[in-house]
Amino acid sequence: MTKPNLSEYNQKRDFNKSPEPKGGKSAKGTPRFVIQKHDAQNLHFDFRLEMSGVLKSWAVPKGPSTNPKDKRLAIPTEDHPVDYIDFEGVIPEGEYGAGTVMVWDKGTYRNLFDEKEDKKTLEECYDDGKIEVWLEGEKVSGGYALVKTNMGKNWLLIKKKDDKADARRKPAKTENNSVKSGRNLKEIEKEEKNG
Ligand code: MN
Repeated sequence: MTKPNLSEYNQKRDFNKSPEPKGGKSAKGTPRFVIQKHDAQNLHFDFRLEMSGVLKSWAVPKGPSTNPKDKRLAIPTEDHPVDYIDFEGVIPEGEYGAGTVMVWDKGTYRNLFDEKEDKKTLEECYDDGKIEVWLEGEKVSGGYALVKTNMGKNWLLIKKKDDKADARRKPAKTENNSVKSGRNLKEIEKEEKNG
């Protein structure tokens, strides 16, 4: 399950039509994460963690919360190539995931299970269905848990209780600009379509 696999990603896309990146290699050093806002058929956020040379990905319909009481549904999606971490643009009509993609938040993370007595790699955590990471993003930071539900397929994204938790902030609703370009979805759509 953890085994990185880009064949589904490649099969779903026609790279002559979509500007999405094809590959990329992980750089050495601190692993990165990205949260992309994706105005597809249904607006959602894509949460991606760099691990095993790919971006392990989940679609989070409501986006991340800073309130530890919220449990945000996170639906696993196909592995994405690491170069996708910087992808912002418009996937054309008729292509898989058609719509506008924004780099909503980006940063580095560390595996919190690396610091526990029962030390586990992130890959082991993924297979166990329980990931805990400390995110260092611009919009979102602190501890987050990703927990596979008993029902099987889906996961939940939950803010951990720490000094970065804040029940009043609602970044997925109120912070609407790209950390890469400063643009909102409409601006990205307009500029990338004409560009
Ligand atoms: Mn998406």
